[in-house]
Amino acid sequence: MLQIVNITKRFGGITALSDVSFHVEKEEIKAVIGPNGAGKTTLLNIISGMEQPDRGEVMLAGERITGLPAHDIAKKGLARTFQHVELFGNMTVLENIMVGMHRRTSSGFLSCGLRLPTVREEEKGIRQKGIELLEYIGLKHRADEPASVLSIGEERILEIGRALATEPRILLLDEPASGLNEAETFQLSVFIKQLRDEKGITIVLVEHDMSLVMNISDSIVVLDFGEKIAEGTPEEIRQDKKVIEAYLGEEEYVS
Ligand code: ATP
Repeated sequence: MLQIVNITKRFGGITALSDVSFHVEKEEIKAVIGPNGAGKTTLLNIISGMEQPDRGEVMLAGERITGLPAHDIAKKGLARTFQHVELFGNMTVLENIMVGMHRRTSSGFLSCGLRLPTVREEEKGIRQKGIELLEYIGLKHRADEPASVLSIGEERILEIGRALATEPRILLLDEPASGLNEAETFQLSVFIKQLRDEKGITIVLVEHDMSLVMNISDSIVVLDFGEKIAEGTPEEIRQDKKVIEAYLGEEEYVS
């Protein structure tokens, strides 16, 4: 589904990513872990087209997507969430989901402005789909409330829900468990697995919470100072010497 081929990215004197390669199988849950500053977010930015690599390429389902603008990559079925929740707090929960659907609608700016019947029909369809999606993610009862009243756990789920509105084949999640308590993290892990099992979505997950990573990942890539130092199943990663060294002083991380 996704191939990362020899990606190198520098910021001035800092090498954020150095010749990183790995691939992600269809319907796989792949975690990318590593200490702070290892290059994880930079990698997600490059995959989603928000930054360009200095070298290397990214292939999505066999097609080279490096160099394409982020919105074109999104149209090819790639969606992402961000480290910091980016919801519209003054809009309702339903409206936040509907925003995510707009790339799939056909109405142009002018016909929207004139509120032509086709637009009204289309909007009704979007509303209906939005409600169905909220039902799927368990937030239908919150549809008409402003997003600002949600708990952080609900915000994370809504943000993922909004990414789902574009019907992605592959979803990149940047630290989805950040700020969540243990119960919310568990709920999130069930939800992510459900996306893969029920919707067949391939998941790439950047995460610091090792309980979540070890619990749901099929395979893990470990970055350290921009280099891939290990790749394998959760069991293999737990026992990997280089990984233990990279996290030295943070042993609990991988236990
Ligand atoms: P964290 O876990 O703290 O989010 P990370 O693994 O996501 O870290 P990145 O944010 O990708 O790491 O950063 C990798 C390196 O590149 C860091 O040294 C960072 O300071 C640097 N870096 C990232 N983005 C930029 C930028 N736009 N300009 C300059 N340096 C950057």
